Amino acid sequence: MSTLRFHAIKKSLNRKPIKIEEKVRRSELFGQNVFNEDKMRQYLTKEAFNSVMDAMQNGTKIDRVVADHISTGMKEWAISKGATHYTHWFQPLTGSTAEKHDAFFEPIGNGRAIEKFGGGQLVQQEPDASSFPNGGIRNTFEARGYTAWDPTSPAFIYGTTLCIPTVFVSYTGEALDYKTPLLRALQAIDNAAVDVCKYFDKNVKKVNASLGWEQEYFLIDRGLAASRPDIQLTGRTLLGHSSAKGQQLDDHYFGTIPNRAMQYMRDLETECMLLGIPVKTRHNEVAPNQFELAPVFDEANLAVDHNSLLMDVMDKVAERHDFKVLFHEKPFKGVNGSGKHNNWSLSTNTGVNLLGPGKTPMSNLQFLTFFVNTIKAVYDNEELVRASIASASNDHRLGANEAPPAIISVFIGEQLTSVLDELQNVTNGKLSPEEKTDLKLNVVGKIPEILLDNTDRNRTSPFAFTGNKFEFRAVGSTANCANPMTVLNTIVANQLIEFKKEVDALIKSRGLKKDEAIFNILREYIKKSKNILFEGNGYGEAWEKEAKKRGLSNHKTTPEALKAKVSKKTLSLFEDLGVMNKVESISRYEIEMEEYVLHIQIEGRVLGDVARNHVVPIAVRYQNRLIKNVKGLKEIYGTGFKKLAKEQMTLIEEISGHIESINSNVTKMTNERKVANNIENLEEKASAYCNKVKPIFDEIRYHCDKLELLVDDELWPLTKYRELLFTK
Ligand code: ADP
Ligand code: MG
Repeated sequence: MSTLRFHAIKKSLNRKPIKIEEKVRRSELFGQNVFNEDKMRQYLTKEAFNSVMDAMQNGTKIDRVVADHISTGMKEWAISKGATHYTHWFQPLTGSTAEKHDAFFEPIGNGRAIEKFGGGQLVQQEPDASSFPNGGIRNTFEARGYTAWDPTSPAFIYGTTLCIPTVFVSYTGEALDYKTPLLRALQAIDNAAVDVCKYFDKNVKKVNASLGWEQEYFLIDRGLAASRPDIQLTGRTLLGHSSAKGQQLDDHYFGTIPNRAMQYMRDLETECMLLGIPVKTRHNEVAPNQFELAPVFDEANLAVDHNSLLMDVMDKVAERHDFKVLFHEKPFKGVNGSGKHNNWSLSTNTGVNLLGPGKTPMSNLQFLTFFVNTIKAVYDNEELVRASIASASNDHRLGANEAPPAIISVFIGEQLTSVLDELQNVTNGKLSPEEKTDLKLNVVGKIPEILLDNTDRNRTSPFAFTGNKFEFRAVGSTANCANPMTVLNTIVANQLIEFKKEVDALIKSRGLKKDEAIFNILREYIKKSKNILFEGNGYGEAWEKEAKKRGLSNHKTTPEALKAKVSKKTLSLFEDLGVMNKVESISRYEIEMEEYVLHIQIEGRVLGDVARNHVVPIAVRYQNRLIKNVKGLKEIYGTGFKKLAKEQMTLIEEISGHIESINSNVTKMTNERKVANNIENLEEKASAYCNKVKPIFDEIRYHCDKLELLVDDELWPLTKYRELLFTK
């Protein structure tokens, strides 16, 4: 009997939900472990407080002396909450978060000690940068890197450690993390959007990008997950026959949350409240044991930090509940995968959502301006947008047999489609007073303040307008949101700068009024970027054909998709907007390509090991049982055995066939891997892994899954889909 599998199943059946009591109101818990404005008022001198607020709102530098005051206040607060250590918390390009804890404790001689945390330690640290990916930056430049405090994201206490959100850069200033380019992109969109807002309201001084992410995940019993080497090492199942029941009945989606999962969520949400992560929504997702969690949206940098932190907290809380969280985009074949919708909008310091229609024609013209510019930005940069969400794991959703597809398109719904159709026919040049009135009353003025959210009927669009925000749905569930958010905010910023130039030029050269010029430019944009608009079903061959005709890209694999990150156009776009210089862009591209190779390499090794050392030996063992049985029948019945042993003999042969195919394919895959490993050029190497190594996975899997159906269940070593997916 396969001991690990059955041991794990037995354990999982005996688990009791841990009852989580919620005695304190959430509103009271909220932000308790965050050094937020309230706490700063309490623990900082007035000067220190103002200095932090100024840094947060206007990006001003914090004076070194003031930093000492801030760190002292922060330390007092942290110690009062039981913290013993502090860390610079950052997001290196590994995709997860990094921290190195230092104690406040410091000996001062004579056997005495104090708690110390100076301004220097708050503002800057030097982790050993050499073990983090840097894509050759350190070969070209200085070897060292440092982390620097990002005052726009508040410090928080997790466990007994004070965590200080930081950026991670090389000594020569190149970004080594996700946050640095994001902050630069947010600055770029702030500047560009404020300039455009001035056409409509001179009081606008600041525009913030907002992000509301929706995190999907699977929750699997810890023991069961541990019994599968593929889940342990790659986060997904590399083989496993689908269960007789999957998601066909739609009986999980929005259903009652199973008790054990519910207690996990309550525990998790309590932690989130303390950390100031405003989680609000929880529900079952489409696949069995799949769930979703979403917060109220926030300023984008903070929301990105919150999502990274959340993923970490989810892992930790899961341990208490004997769960393992699977963040992978496609942990199970044949059931839905997981995404992380990024809801994005822009809001002004005057409290206006620039992507929400307003009450007056003028505010609606402002809305249309930002709406159309976003569409144009996505159209002009669809390949870069696709690249921003490319990863080995997301390839299983995009471009595989699942929506959203690898083709980037924008869904805007019926109502706005007809508005754009009307605007497309605006007269070139000066508008007659009648036309202007008509436009304002009957087109722009007719956009209802609340747009009927008819987008839920289109679940297949990778980028959908949903009433007052765009929802970038193609983002993968394991992704760091910073990557897509950096790209989206940069391309829209660039587009808004372009727009402003063009409008100003029209006003100047042709003497048009401001609104006439805006109508004229929007008309051209709508005409030019129409090809990106798509309202139909984005899943299937018909759209692929149509998209090809429209000239839209359809990069189904990461190595193909990533190339857009280093196109001439992208390199200058990022450089011009001060988001990333060429070295930074190229290094990121290399890191992501390398990461792709490593992922497929690891999966290949694990699959080879599991197939050969777990599946084949068990198949042989079962086959031996059958052989013994046939021999026995022959002994008893003599020549008449053939009739009686017919099924067994067929099985014996079938098993041999599958074993042979597994072994030959594993050998083939290993050889292809060797060939790929010897390729120097990174692009060619990634391509070899993608096109030569990876396709063999399916072959190996096919035969293993067939064996799963043939071999005695009692012998089968790998925990099955039905056990993983239906153990609650
Ligand atoms: P769903 O997409 O599941 O129907 P919602 O659309 O209600 O859920 O919300 C999803 C996420 O979008 C939430 O995090 C929500 O806070 C966020 N959101 C709502 N309005 C905005 C906005 N104007 N800008 C950015 N995010 C928003
Ligand atoms: Mg949504």
